Amino acid sequence: MLGGNSKIVIDGDGIFLLLTIRRDAEIAEHRNKLVMDINEDSVDCLLVDYDNGKAAFFSIMHDIRAIRTNYRRIRMRIQEKVENPASRNKLLAKYGARERNCVEDRLKKITTLLAEIAREHNADLVRERLKDLRLSNKMGSKQLNYRLSTFPYRKFIEYIDYKFYERGLSVIEVDARKTSITCPVCGYTDRRNRISRDTFRCRRCGLEFNAQYVACLNLFSRSNDGYIAIRSEGVYVVPRKAGSVVPANVASNEPPTQMKWLRGEARAGFQNTHSYQKIKHGQPPVLIVTCRTSSVVLCEHEIGNVLFIRDPNVRIEKTAFTGVLLVYSNLDVNTAYRVASFREYGFVESIIPIHCTLILPLDPLSLRECLAKITNPDTRIKLKVRARGVRKTSSEIYRLVVNILRELGVTVESSSSTCLFVEVIKSNVYVGVGSCKPVFKASISDS
Ligand SMILES: [Zn+2]
Repeated sequence: MLGGNSKIVIDGDGIFLLLTIRRDAEIAEHRNKLVMDINEDSVDCLLVDYDNGKAAFFSIMHDIRAIRTNYRRIRMRIQEKVENPASRNKLLAKYGARERNCVEDRLKKITTLLAEIAREHNADLVRERLKDLRLSNKMGSKQLNYRLSTFPYRKFIEYIDYKFYERGLSVIEVDARKTSITCPVCGYTDRRNRISRDTFRCRRCGLEFNAQYVACLNLFSRSNDGYIAIRSEGVYVVPRKAGSVVPANVASNEPPTQMKWLRGEARAGFQNTHSYQKIKHGQPPVLIVTCRTSSVVLCEHEIGNVLFIRDPNVRIEKTAFTGVLLVYSNLDVNTAYRVASFREYGFVESIIPIHCTLILPLDPLSLRECLAKITNPDTRIKLKVRARGVRKTSSEIYRLVVNILRELGVTVESSSSTCLFVEVIKSNVYVGVGSCKPVFKASISDS
């Protein structure tokens, strides 16, 4: 016997039947929520993580509409140019299959990415009710057909539901009507609240917000989980049940309209990357990023998001130590460091530039050469040595570095705001000079 919500999902090679009867036993409800608003060029999200006292907006850009438009153009050309019906049908079938594979690929990547982020945070999905799509925005059938033809909403929703259920996460459907023109704070609904494509300004209470995320805030309120409030000029999520008020931030301080959440590697699948210069094999990393262990994936996205606009090939590599990431980029160390540091981050804890990469056991000559290159005589520097995965090494390295610095005429002083970082990760030693406080923490902090 099938429950009311049972459905059949066709996922690539297989057909899956989702049964509601079993669901109650296996799928628990989670208090954290991933609120998702599907749009033609992006999937905009609000992740509310009550467990860690934070909420973040992020956006996944996609090119599904471009793919569809492109193949529509190809189909039209085939119709025009190929006169023989047999070869025309053959061509149409060939390009039809190619288009389907391409769109399918994007749908899978996006839904998997979202489900993985949700799993990392134990978050249930909050999304628009599918039937509202049909009635939304008083669109005429022609416009609606066009909208549905440029983005496969139904399929997207089937996939994402499946991927959430598969991970033991629930899906909550909410009323999505007028979510883009309703003020998430005071509830005033007016088409004119949307002053431009990118900006929402409430005509009653004056709230001004990135239009992209207004729908997410409204979907969240409608899930009955809590409401949205403005406190000290920030947007906060106030839970209805016992729990603390959670500040909501855009996941990096890039201009919100340019928010692109996908980092280079993931984005590569979404874009034609032929013109980009690939990172050479064996090239050393340029940054060490540390993040809260509870949110490594988001931290990874955060840093990737900051760098990938400058370097679409940015690659972030996990180390054997949770929360410690190595960043590879085509940007030189100083540019990457400048771009990445002094930004507002929610999940990134620290960013360290890597000016030299050495190996253990340390060769004093190479170390001296490195230090001479990156420090100036008659300056003061604070020395920070951290050894991971090796015992008793940090004090030895500390002494060695202090001696060399003395020879070079550099004073080690703990009050200096410039730091010399020596980071040992297993048998590699990364040395860099940077600010002792390179990361500005967003107000997302626990306070
Ligand atoms: Zn308002």
